[in-house]
Amino acid sequence: MTNEELWQSALGELELLISKANFTTWFKNTFISALAEGMVVICVPNTFTKVWLEKKYHTAILHALKNSTDNAVIGVEYKVNTGQQPEARAAKTNSALLETVPGGGVSVKEPAAHNFLTNNPLPRSVNKYGLNDRYQFESFIVGKGNELAHAAAKAVAERPGTVYNPLFIYGGVGLGKTHLLQAVGHHILAQKPSIKILYASAEKFTNDYIQAVKNGQAKQFNDTYRMVDLLLIDDIQFIAGKEGTQEALFHTFNTLHQNNCQVVLSSDRPPNAIPSLEKRLQSRFEWGMIADISQPDFETRVAILEAKCKERLYDLAPEMLALIAENVHNNVRELEGALNRIVAHHQFHQIPPTSQTIKEVLNSSTYARRRASLSSQELVDHIADFFHITVDDLVGKSRKKELVLPRQIAMYLMREELSSSYPNIGQELGNRDHTTAMHAYTKIHTAIESDSGLRQNVDLIRQRLYSEV
Ligand code: ADP
Ligand code: MG
Repeated sequence: MTNEELWQSALGELELLISKANFTTWFKNTFISALAEGMVVICVPNTFTKVWLEKKYHTAILHALKNSTDNAVIGVEYKVNTGQQPEARAAKTNSALLETVPGGGVSVKEPAAHNFLTNNPLPRSVNKYGLNDRYQFESFIVGKGNELAHAAAKAVAERPGTVYNPLFIYGGVGLGKTHLLQAVGHHILAQKPSIKILYASAEKFTNDYIQAVKNGQAKQFNDTYRMVDLLLIDDIQFIAGKEGTQEALFHTFNTLHQNNCQVVLSSDRPPNAIPSLEKRLQSRFEWGMIADISQPDFETRVAILEAKCKERLYDLAPEMLALIAENVHNNVRELEGALNRIVAHHQFHQIPPTSQTIKEVLNSSTYARRRASLSSQELVDHIADFFHITVDDLVGKSRKKELVLPRQIAMYLMREELSSSYPNIGQELGNRDHTTAMHAYTKIHTAIESDSGLRQNVDLIRQRLYSEV
C-alpha cells in the first residue's frame, strides 16, 4: 500500500465520523508525506489546520491509520507543507498512468487492474461550481428507499424550473442527498454548458451572508445567489433558528422562483420538522415536491456494493457482498467506508477475502467501537441537540409537550442502544421513577410502528449517534 492509498483508506474512515463540512474543511489538501517505523507524517496546508488536527482529530486520525494498517502505525505528526502538494487526481482519470507526486514531479504508475485504493476516487475532483465528479445520476443506484427522490431529481434535471420548484429532498446522513443534488447540477450543465448554477451548503450560505452583512456587501451576496439559473442548497436544516439567514434565503428564493429558476434543497428532516423555521419559509419549501430518502434495503445495499466494486475494478464474490450488506445497514456512506477498509485490509496483508477476514474487519471498525463506547451522556447531548433544547430542559421537570417527547425518545434509545436498566434510565433522566422509563419505552416502541414521522426522527438520531464526532 502506498502512502496515498493508506491516507485514502484512513480518510474513508474519518469521513464517517466527522460532519461533511468539517471533513472538507480540515482534510482538504492533506497527504501523507512520510511513513517510517510506524510514524506517519501528515502534511497540511497551514498552521491553523495543523493545530486543529492535533487538538481535535488526532485520536480519530491515529485510530483510522491503525485500523488501515492493522496497528502497524504507532504515531502521527503534522507538518505544514510549504512546498508543492500533490494534485488531487481527478476521478475520471482512473486509467491514467501518470500521477503528480509530492514535490511536483510526475511518476509512472503500474497499471493496477485490481488495485482498489489506487482507483479509489476519494481525492475529490470538484469543478468550479462546487460539484464533485463522482456524484452523477449514472453512479446512483436506485432502490426502494430512494426511488421517489431519484425520479423527482431526474425530472427536475430534465426540465428545470418547470416541474417541481423547489424540489426538497430529505433523509438521514449518508443516504445520497448530496449525491442527488449534485447529479441534478451535472445533468443540467451537460445539457446546457452556458447555464449558471450554484451549489452551496446551507452553512456556506449562512457564512457568506454573515460576511456580506459585516462588510456591507449585500449586493455581491445577492448577485452570487440570485443571478443563477439553478440553486442547490445542501443541508438546509442548518439554518434552524438563524433568523437573518432565513430572511436572506426567503428573498433569494422568491427572486429565483419568480424567474422560474430551479431551486433544489436537501435537509435531514422535512420542512415542518425543522425547529424554529419561519412559517413563510416552511410554506415555500412545501410549494414544490418533497421527496424523502430512507435507508437502503438489503438488495439495494448489495447492488451498491456491486457497483462500487465494479467502479474500482475490484472483485468480490456475491456471498462476500451479501455478508457486508447484512452487517452494514445504516447508510450508504458507511457501506462505502466498510468496503474501503475491507479492501485495504486484504491488500495490505495480500490475502484473499474470506467471510472470516471480512467479519474481522467489520468488527474492528470505528463504528463498532463507537457503538460499544457510547455513553448515556453523549446520547442525552445528541437528543437535546437534535431537538434544539437544552440538556437541563430534557432532564428537567417540565411536562411541556415539546420536552416530553424528546425525553421519552431519550429513554427509549437508552434502552435500545445502551441496554440500560429502567431504574438507571429513570435516574439519568432527572431522577425519575423506573415505571416512567418503562412507560416511555413502551410508548415509543409502539408509536414508532404507526407514526412514520416519529420513526424517521428516531432513525435520524440513531444515525447521528454513530456518525458525528
Ligand atoms: P448525504 O448527503 O445524504 O449525507 P451523500 O450524498 O454524501 O449522503 O452520500 C454518501 C455516499 O454514499 C456518497 O459517496 C454517495 O456517492 C454514496 N451514495 C449514496 N446513495 C447512493 C446510491 N443510491 N448509489 C450509489 N452511491 C450512493
Ligand atoms: Mg450531504
